[in-house]
Amino acid sequence: MRWILWIDLDAYYVSCELRDKPELRGRPVIVGPDPTRGPTRGVVLSASYEARKFGVRSALPVVRAARMCPEATWLPADFPKYERVAGEVRQLLRAQYPRVVPRSIDEATIDLDLPDPEAAESEARAIQRELRERLDLPASIGVSPSAIVAKIASDRAKPAGVVVVASEHIAEFLAPLPVRVVPGVGPKTEATLRASGVETLGQLVKGAPPAIERSLGGFASELVALARGHPHDPIEEEPGPRSRSVDRTFVEDLSELAQADAELSPLIEALADGLAHEGLSYQTVRISVRWDDFQRVQRGHTLPAAHFGPGAMRAVAPRLLSQLWDEEHQGRRRRVRLLSVGVERLRPRAKGQRLLEESPSAPED
Ligand SMILES: [Mg+2]
Repeated sequence: MRWILWIDLDAYYVSCELRDKPELRGRPVIVGPDPTRGPTRGVVLSASYEARKFGVRSALPVVRAARMCPEATWLPADFPKYERVAGEVRQLLRAQYPRVVPRSIDEATIDLDLPDPEAAESEARAIQRELRERLDLPASIGVSPSAIVAKIASDRAKPAGVVVVASEHIAEFLAPLPVRVVPGVGPKTEATLRASGVETLGQLVKGAPPAIERSLGGFASELVALARGHPHDPIEEEPGPRSRSVDRTFVEDLSELAQADAELSPLIEALADGLAHEGLSYQTVRISVRWDDFQRVQRGHTLPAAHFGPGAMRAVAPRLLSQLWDEEHQGRRRRVRLLSVGVERLRPRAKGQRLLEESPSAPED
């Protein structure tokens, strides 16, 4: 039986910093622009669980966070470090498992054939131990035959837990949870659902009220199927043999092109790294955006020849994003909820082609 293990590193940026600054362990630590050193409108990027006890959360304005937790230690974000550590995590996983798919800078999935939930759970605990002992990183792991349920379970497992949801328990597991836990359901969708009296997934088991079907379209039936324990699992279908993609949902929606543009790079690196590991070239690059009004739009470009490595993606993706932005954003004040970079027309690396390829994206390859 096939199981997806969704591994999500806990308080990732803070955890990367604590590896270098063990003296800060057990204390409230916040990664983000330090508001005590001058006025800033920035937000918290990551908070240790000790800081969360004071109510500090990702995306909270730093000025408020500083008031809630005056004793916090503030550290500036070091993105190159976070990308480097993410590479170490992928390397560790790949040394032991054949099918490792990066899902974001701090998330990856593994799929495994295992006889029962107990075996899946002990595998997850073993991974957790390895990450802790060898890389000094805490992780939470959700385990289920469905990727979308595994992702939701990884959230419920935080911090440092494992939650296993077998097929026959999906509906029961989801029933009490707020609809907000489903990837893609933001505050606006949540409000639409609440207006029709739907707050939990369990309330969708009997079907979606007509008003919801009207405003959410096909997504309404996806939610109903999920609530009934039969997820359509778009997350799982995406990285099929024909395409690969990585995406990121933002804690705080992005309103500027420059912000979205800056988010492309870690996605491209993670995607290229996965392709290099699988020995796949790509010919089409695609980016996709989900706006805060829930509409999803995408743009793609097919290159004249197949490419290896991140170079072609780095060249094409920002262009596609700015084109999409020009056409879809101007004058509409939409904000980006989710950003995805994908590739298509994949082919296994041919013999002898190695010499022609671009340099691999990650140091471990
Ligand atoms: Mg995480």
